[in-house]
Amino acid sequence: MAKALDLKKTIRDIPDFPKKGIIFKDITTLLKDPKALKCSIDRLAKAVAKAKPKYVVGIESRGFIFGTAVAYKLGIGFIPVRKKGKLPYKTVSVSYDLEYGKDTLEMHSDALKKGDKVVVIDDLLATGGTVEAVVKLVGGAGARIVGVGFVIELSFLNGREKLKGLPVFSVLKY
Ligand code: AMP
Repeated sequence: MAKALDLKKTIRDIPDFPKKGIIFKDITTLLKDPKALKCSIDRLAKAVAKAKPKYVVGIESRGFIFGTAVAYKLGIGFIPVRKKGKLPYKTVSVSYDLEYGKDTLEMHSDALKKGDKVVVIDDLLATGGTVEAVVKLVGGAGARIVGVGFVIELSFLNGREKLKGLPVFSVLKY
């Protein structure tokens, strides 16, 4: 398995995207590299497998890429959490604050049952606002979150603080 350092080399920093002051972690270069793609998914899957989840809940849209691969690897199902208005059936939703304004995420109302064990996966943990909202959504459905996994964690933004009490795993820390 590749070392964390080698994996980091496959991620491209894009300064001032989508706006000034943000250093965007571009993972398309990791996805394109077969060893890095395999290694990041294997590591995520290994970390969350111990909790024996029944489903992976993936956050639109880069959480779909890693989340589905992890679900496939573990032989479990995948549940998408999507931006407002994208899911065709009845939904439950959660709104959360962005720097400017609000955003809403949705999940199908019948996606989870009480007591279902799930892991939540996204590509990157920054401030933790997005995943905190998803934790509320999944918890509201009565499911039990047994793990939260990211490929990248921007530790200096303290996103983990919003996930207190949950087992959080990240492949790469900055
Ligand atoms: P947050 O809610 O602040 O934890 O932001 C997490 C979401 O925003 C994730 O879905 C990321 O894909 C995206 N994101 C936030 N900051 C960055 C960054 N510096 N580079 C790439 N994606 C980011």
